[in-house]
Amino acid sequence: MRADPREHVHEHEVKELLRAAGVPVPRGVVVPCGAEGPRGGFPVPGELAEPLVLKAYGPGLVHKSEAGAVVLGLRAADLPAAAGEMRARVPGLAGFLVEEQAAAGVELIVGLVRDPAFGPVLLAGLGGVWAEALRDTALRLCPVSERDARRMLGSLRAAPLLGGVRGRPPVDLEALVGLLVAVGGPGGLWERLELGEFELNPVIATPDGVTAVDARYLPGGPATPPGDGSTGGNTGGSTGGSTADFLPLFEPRAVAVAGASTARPNFGNMFLGFYRAAGVPLVAVHPQAEEVAGVPAARSLAEAGGRVGTGVDYALVAVPAERCAEVVRQAAGVPFVQVMSGGFGEAGHAELEAELVAAARAAGTRLLGPNCMGVYCPRGRQTFVGGGLGPPGPVALVSQSGGLAGEVIKVGERRGLAFSRVVTIGNAADVTPAELVRWLAGDPETRAVGLYLEDPRDGRELYEALRALDRPAVLLVGGRTGQGRAAAASHTGGLVSDRRLWEAVAEQAGAALVSSQDDLIGVLAFFQAHGSRPAAGDGVLVVGPSGGASVLAADAFDAAGVRLDPLPEGVAGELRGLGVAASGNPLEVPVGPLGRPGLVPDVVRAILRRRPYRDVVAHVNVPAFFTYGDAPQALYACVRALAAAQDALPRTRVTLVTRNGECAPAGVEDEVRRVAAAAGIPVYRSMEAAAAAVAAGGRHGAA
Ligand code: ADP
Ligand code: MG
Repeated sequence: MRADPREHVHEHEVKELLRAAGVPVPRGVVVPCGAEGPRGGFPVPGELAEPLVLKAYGPGLVHKSEAGAVVLGLRAADLPAAAGEMRARVPGLAGFLVEEQAAAGVELIVGLVRDPAFGPVLLAGLGGVWAEALRDTALRLCPVSERDARRMLGSLRAAPLLGGVRGRPPVDLEALVGLLVAVGGPGGLWERLELGEFELNPVIATPDGVTAVDARYLPGGPATPPGDGSTGGNTGGSTGGSTADFLPLFEPRAVAVAGASTARPNFGNMFLGFYRAAGVPLVAVHPQAEEVAGVPAARSLAEAGGRVGTGVDYALVAVPAERCAEVVRQAAGVPFVQVMSGGFGEAGHAELEAELVAAARAAGTRLLGPNCMGVYCPRGRQTFVGGGLGPPGPVALVSQSGGLAGEVIKVGERRGLAFSRVVTIGNAADVTPAELVRWLAGDPETRAVGLYLEDPRDGRELYEALRALDRPAVLLVGGRTGQGRAAAASHTGGLVSDRRLWEAVAEQAGAALVSSQDDLIGVLAFFQAHGSRPAAGDGVLVVGPSGGASVLAADAFDAAGVRLDPLPEGVAGELRGLGVAASGNPLEVPVGPLGRPGLVPDVVRAILRRRPYRDVVAHVNVPAFFTYGDAPQALYACVRALAAAQDALPRTRVTLVTRNGECAPAGVEDEVRRVAAAAGIPVYRSMEAAAAAVAAGGRHGAA
């Protein structure tokens, strides 16, 4: 047992570990010494090639250069004098490390930290003095693959430095990738270290290889798997790998509502109303009443099944927080209980939340929430929204906010989304997002998954679940700050932020990460429309009217990380024949009330014959149709022509942008959406929204 878990491991000891792991380090010798210096004078190591580096080590000596404990460019003969001066400068020095000086090159930082939610994380970036000034780094969750390592390096702004700029030869990229994998890959150092923090800064990369010239390791406590309660994780113990069958949650035989009042209508009564409208068999739970608002009532959850004449699969509990556990304790035989009430962990009452989870465990029921709205599933007549059920469809949503989920349902359905399963989980004290994602992966009704998260409880488990998900997913994460976490002794700690971590999770799990509710809906609409289309080819073609709009479209796609490749060679003549100048991509095509509705499809077909772009984004300026013409017919004709083109191009994904749609008379946009949706074309009101959706869809193309 280590006395102090943060005890510093000396640089030369870390370098031994590195050497054993196959990470190149400079050749060197260690010269231990006390306050009087090395016994018998400073030994001059003959076997090391000059120039040499002299470094001191000792307790608390973490940032050596700042303490004057690094001298570069020494000859062997200089060592005794340099060591004497260093001893005078550096109090508490325990010894020296003399090593060969690596040739100059690109200095990088490579680090490992254990994130409280996501576990071991590898960081790579521009190192040395640049590390903190430029914060040019990439993160990945361990273990990283060789491909991950390559993509990390490729994503750095400093990537051109590695490839060789201004006549400099490129660095040995293979060696660098090898180093990243040796540290953060399968079987890598991360598995053998007790993190803590671990940092190589710098690693010097040259055309001839890489060398870790500095190494720092601060062991942490023993590894605690995320979600074991020590990180505020799942209070009820691990549910990882759970095989709970969530079907009765979404398609219950009957629903019970506890908390509706006979005297003063409250939330519970509102839900009774929603459920009645949805038509699911329903029973109220009330200590005295025979019925509540016309719904038959039972005395307790235990008696609810008898009252409704069929098993109750889902109970909604909307009583004050301190009484929830008591109600849940009687839920034996009800597989799912949702606690709507707030006032638990989120309000500083962790003890009430723990009591609630214990009650659910005792009753053998699974708990949803607390502090959530419930479940929406048109197929199962499950709901928590007023206004009736929308059509069943392929889109699932897991949300830690009930309010947000309600908005996504309402706005999404207005825009044509159709849901398979929506589940809100609030504090996720028992049922976690990871578990739900695992179940959705096997749900035949679900073809795309959206997630809104604030604190996933067990981030590592969620990451694994997303990796195992074989259908497109999009993540919206609230409360991501751009700030680094509290930096300890290493730069690495300060360079890891929630935002960067979620980017890594999305990248490695193949999910899209968006930053607004609007984009969450937009990306889900894209997945719904195009998810099952076996898109071929690659690249994105943008066509529509107006030079300015075309220029801005290029910027919007660029900002979304989508490159618009130039038009294929030799297409100009054919375009000219159609009356269109080959202005580039975005391609400016006159579209309006006086134009031919089939022009855009003709142009698109001519281009696709030469190059199969995977995505075609067509845009129109809606008011133009009403300024020069007065009927929406010309607009509809354009959309119908595009719909016909999509039908004829099953391996291309067509997307429509109706710019300035608010200028259209009421109902016009709905009709446009209807026609487009029938052909499987998603519609966006701005180029930015379309770009976000196409970018997300790019991860799921077959190309
Ligand atoms: P610090 O504790 O201050 O980070 P380092 O061991 O990283 O100390 O040394 C400071 C700097 O000296 C490094 O950033 C690197 O530029 C240079 N340096 C240190 N060791 C070597 C070496 N063996 N070969 C070449 N340069 C070195
Ligand atoms: Mg250093």
